[in-house]
Amino acid sequence: MRTYRIAIVGAGPAGYFAAQALQNSASDDQTFAIDMIERLPTPWGLVRSGVAPDHPKIKTVSKVFEKIATAGNFRLFGNVELGTDLQIKDLTDRYDAVIVSTGSSLGKKLGIPGENLQGSLSAADFVPWYNAHPDFTALDVPLDCDTAVVIGAGNVAMDVARMLALEPHELDATDTANHAIEALRKSSIRRVILCARRGPEHAAFTSPELRELPKLEHTNVLMDGNQISAARDRVGAEPEKDVKSNLDAMGLIVEREKTSHERTLEFEFLLTPIEIHGTDRVTEIALGINEIKDGKVVSTGQTKTIKCGLVVSAIGYEAAPIEGITYANGKIVNTDGRISGTNMYTVGWAKRGPSGVIGTNKSDASEVIKLLIEDLPKEPKNNGDVTELLQGHTVVTQSHWEAINAAEVAQGEPLGKPRVKAADRHELLRLGGL
Ligand code: NAP
Repeated sequence: MRTYRIAIVGAGPAGYFAAQALQNSASDDQTFAIDMIERLPTPWGLVRSGVAPDHPKIKTVSKVFEKIATAGNFRLFGNVELGTDLQIKDLTDRYDAVIVSTGSSLGKKLGIPGENLQGSLSAADFVPWYNAHPDFTALDVPLDCDTAVVIGAGNVAMDVARMLALEPHELDATDTANHAIEALRKSSIRRVILCARRGPEHAAFTSPELRELPKLEHTNVLMDGNQISAARDRVGAEPEKDVKSNLDAMGLIVEREKTSHERTLEFEFLLTPIEIHGTDRVTEIALGINEIKDGKVVSTGQTKTIKCGLVVSAIGYEAAPIEGITYANGKIVNTDGRISGTNMYTVGWAKRGPSGVIGTNKSDASEVIKLLIEDLPKEPKNNGDVTELLQGHTVVTQSHWEAINAAEVAQGEPLGKPRVKAADRHELLRLGGL
């Protein structure tokens, strides 16, 4: 029996699905000893720090991750950062293969004047802030204004807009970070405007997310019926399935009886951000008005401004670079997951960019693992692992993580929450008994 040592860097969905594909590929004559390295004291990646807290069903995939982690031949090395506590060469020298599943954590920039003003944030910071990511607890989120503008027409923009437009009591039964619930309770924001640069038919939202909006109990959801009808006319009688489904869902929002809640979430299409105005902090955003001519989105040359105190851009992500790995266009340079000339592989958003839902990573990882197995040498390297390099370092193992997990869940139980997340690294380590 040959046992190959595989290191996986990044304990998000893509990393776990890669581990699962390895476990499923074990046979009578070869197995895989998996070491998963994660910079945070907690695993699960975006399932913990990305998925919106009011979407608990999506997080149930964490049960699958725990099954993988406890299936045997799997070790978690949490609180271990590549580049600081370990170098990539430490892994490539010791392991038969190294899988990089570090995702895309940096928010793409709008690249417009005023983007760095106080009150202009990226969803890449705002989302982990409300999800208790320890690196974002001190984020300055000014909510003392009436209006917030969210840029982008994807599911992240939708999550951000919904979180800002919800009645905060709706978050009581969720695992939203305590600091975020407190701040949102005090929030003066009553109007959230989501601005898409193209038309309704081009939006990257998925229809279940749109269909959820009319169920919001304390928020008026507004879309311009004329914009939706114009989009329907443009796409004709037989649009693509996803486009049809989105336009149908938007139609339901338009047809919905008007409500008169204190809070409003508005969708505006065909607006490109040009400049964010303000001296010390954001006071308004200027947007170019677009139109669709011959199927193309073009500028009308006209502009409009929206007075607001907060702008959150949710326009995509890029991978945070790791020394020793080559990146281009915000992702790792790779061919079908292989990192040329090395024993490294990549899966998930680090490999293909920030697209797809959590489940997309399952098929993606299993394709890459097939190639990895093809490439393995006849005999394992047998060159040790990272344990001796981490002597004296506080490592969160699977059992420490299970203690953290149990403590968070126990804290949430009497409050009717799935968990109360610890947002501080020291507190997380303390809960783990470290
Ligand atoms: P996304 O789906 O790619 O959407 C990005 C949006 O940003 C697009 O509407 C894009 O418009 C817009 N955009 C890009 N550059 C822009 C610019 N310079 N100015 C204005 N708008 C700009 O990305 P995402 O929302 O970050 O989501 C990432 C992935 O995670 C997606 O696959 C998403 O479905 C998934 N996700 C899923 C869920 C869920 O299942 N509930 C929740 C969150 C995220 P153009 O189309 O015009 O480029």
